Formats: sequence, C-alpha cells, structure tokens
Amino acid sequence: MDGRARGSYTARLMSRKTIIVPKGQRAKTRDGSPWIFSNEIRMDPAAKALAPGTVVNVRGEDGRAFGTGYFNPKSLIAVRLLASDCDAAIDADFFAQRLGRARALRQSVYDRPFYRLCHAEGDGLPGLVIDRFDDTLAVQTGTAGMERQIEAISAGLDRLLAPKTVILRNDAPSRALEGLDAYVRTLKGEGRRIAVEENGVRYLADLTEGQKTGWYYDQRDNRAFIAKLAKGKAVLDAYSYTGGFGILAAKAGAKEVVCLDSSAPALALAEESARANGVKITPVKADVFEELERLKTAAERFDIVLADPPPFVKSKKDLEPGAKAYRKLARLAAEVTAPGGMMMVASCSHNIPPERFAQECAQGLLRAGRRAALIHQAGAGPDHPVHPMLPESAYLKVLVYALD
Ligand code: SAH
Repeated sequence: MDGRARGSYTARLMSRKTIIVPKGQRAKTRDGSPWIFSNEIRMDPAAKALAPGTVVNVRGEDGRAFGTGYFNPKSLIAVRLLASDCDAAIDADFFAQRLGRARALRQSVYDRPFYRLCHAEGDGLPGLVIDRFDDTLAVQTGTAGMERQIEAISAGLDRLLAPKTVILRNDAPSRALEGLDAYVRTLKGEGRRIAVEENGVRYLADLTEGQKTGWYYDQRDNRAFIAKLAKGKAVLDAYSYTGGFGILAAKAGAKEVVCLDSSAPALALAEESARANGVKITPVKADVFEELERLKTAAERFDIVLADPPPFVKSKKDLEPGAKAYRKLARLAAEVTAPGGMMMVASCSHNIPPERFAQECAQGLLRAGRRAALIHQAGAGPDHPVHPMLPESAYLKVLVYALD
C-alpha cells in the first residue's frame, strides 16, 4: 500500500461507525454466529441513518469487539460479520485472501477447476456466492453489504485467478429483502455458453439465461451415487433442468433416460449436452405432478425415479403446504417406481428441517403402499461448506430409497 492509499484507508477507518450490542442483549449461545439480529443491537437514530451495506465495527457496551461487518438497518439480520477484529480492512486484499482460502479447500478435493468457489458464510463471506467454470465465474451478491463491495471483489478475483469472464447473476428474488434490484450483467469478458466438467462428463451450461448461476454444483456427489445404480435401468429424471442426473446416468449405461422439466430451454440444452456426450435422453416438457399422474394411470414404470424440485417451502409460513407438496411428490414418485426399483427425492428448501422432510417422504411411501428402505441420505458436496453456527444453511437434503 502506498502512502496515499494508506492515508485514505486511515481516513476511512476514522470515519467507520460503531454498532453497539447492549449488555445482555445477545444470548451467550449466539457467540460465534456471523449474524447479529436487529433486536440484538442498539438501533439508535445514528445507526438507522447508515446506508444499507455500510461497513461497521461492532462492539459490546463493555468495549468487547464483535468484529467488522456490514450493516443493513432494513434487514432482520442487521449485521453480517466479515472479520472477528474491529477495524479490519475490507478491500481487494481481503477478498483475495478469503477467496484464496476458499480455493485451497476446493483444490484439496477436486482435480479440475469446476466448483462452487465461494459459499457465503461457509467461506467467511456472507452474501457472496461464486461458481467457477475454469476461467469463467458466475458471481451472485445477495446482500446490500456485498453489493457495495463488487469492485473490491472483482479486483480480488483478478489478483487471485485472473478470470477471463465474470458474469454477475444478481437476479435472485431474495435480493428484494435487502432492498436490491434484480439484474444480470457481464462484468468482464464475454460469452455465456460454457462447458462444465463434472464426474467425467462435459455438460453445457448457460450462465446468463440459465437458472441461478446456470449450474447446480450442489448435486455433484448425488449424481455420482445415482449413476452407480443406473446401469441397464430405465431412469426418470424429474425436474431434470439441463440433465445433471440424467446424462450421467445415461453415460453410466442406463437403458433409457427420460428428462422431465417444465423449461423448454433447459431441456434443449440437456439434449444438446447428451448428444455431445454420445448418449441419448428423451426430453419431456410437462408439469411433474401432472406427468407423474399420467404415467401412473398409463401404468408406465421406471427402475429409478429422481425428483429434484425447486424449493416448495420458500419461507417459514409455507411450511405446511410445502411439506404436503413433498409428501405428494414422494407418493407419486413411488407410484411410478417399478417393483425393486429406487427412488430419490430432494429438497433445497432450508425452511423445512431434515427430520420433517424425511417424515413427509415416509408418509408419501406409505400412502403409495410401498415398503422401502432408506439407503442414502446426503446434502451438498464439500464445495458448499456450512458455517458451524448456521447449520440451517445446509439447505439441500437428498434421500434415496430402495423399494420392494
Ligand atoms: N436436477 C437438476 C436441478 C433441478 S432445478 C440438476 O441436477 O441440475 C429445478 C427444475 O425444476 C428447474 O429446471 C425448473 O425448470 C423445474 N421445474 C420447476 N417447476 C416445475 C414443474 N412444476 N414441473 C416441471 N418442472 C419444473
């Protein structure tokens, strides 16, 4: 850092505001959590006046340092901590260092540069998600605090990885909770169609038009598990998106793979991707519930039925209807599973606890009149690390049953 930069940094620090946690306001059990709720801090006029996303110091009334974080007076999660010390510099160096640690973790697990590089709190960077596709990155900022750091993040990434292309996928609906608008923008480079290498397959993904960041790395290990069962089997990949499960199953020797989804562009990409891998899938564009009913009535059965739906429990208030939808999905999936077949049901709703989800699936099996054994319970892979104080952020739940 040259003298001028250091000078301006010091000036910034001098003006850094402090958020106070009054005595007894934050339960001891919340020690170590990177979140500080609005009812845990002194929300005085000075705090309220801070712009959403301002970097702040957080201290107890007694002077104890909670650390450096960013503040949003409009959010229930008022502060998300970035560092455990106060006055920490939040700049390109900070991001390069944190992301360097995140990359080292991935490099210890994966041979190839295709993974979720940053998983928000799990990587010490609340509100920041980055998926890496070799030299192309899809970046999502989910909070006002991270939105304000886009330049520093981009500079940090340049220092660390020098990516060719960086696409901002800032169109997640959850951004509205932080008062942010939705947009997709290319920050650097060009191109949107890329290849994803995973489990020995080269898939196609569309980073600007596709859903979320364009690819779901969270199911990588579960796709590999299903592929091991797939040889010679008829597979129904419901909610297939671009064929993550189906194409790998076909490569593993499935005798038939039907990819079922309501999105025509996703199915078109799945077909193209399958062809490029020298395998065939049958795309079916339909609503999953309707199509499962139709298959059931038509007495069409599959040896392996996969159901990886969008979140049915989008918020806590949707728990009951969402739980019911999972039960119905499990019932219908079981009803079209051939005798001796396998069925996988997944939930990516962090608002339904794992036990409740398992209970609903069990009820669905019961209602279908199928006896089953749970043979595999999993979540997302190691490129989706979870902060130990935020176990609920482990959103993905995957259950695989062997049916009689
Ligand atoms: N299994 C996929 C990811 C699924 S994402 C993978 O491994 O990559 C959820 C998918 O469900 C999306 O592709 C979306 O288009 C599809 N979808 C959402 N609602 C649907 C419905 N009612 N019927 C069929 N597909 C639906």
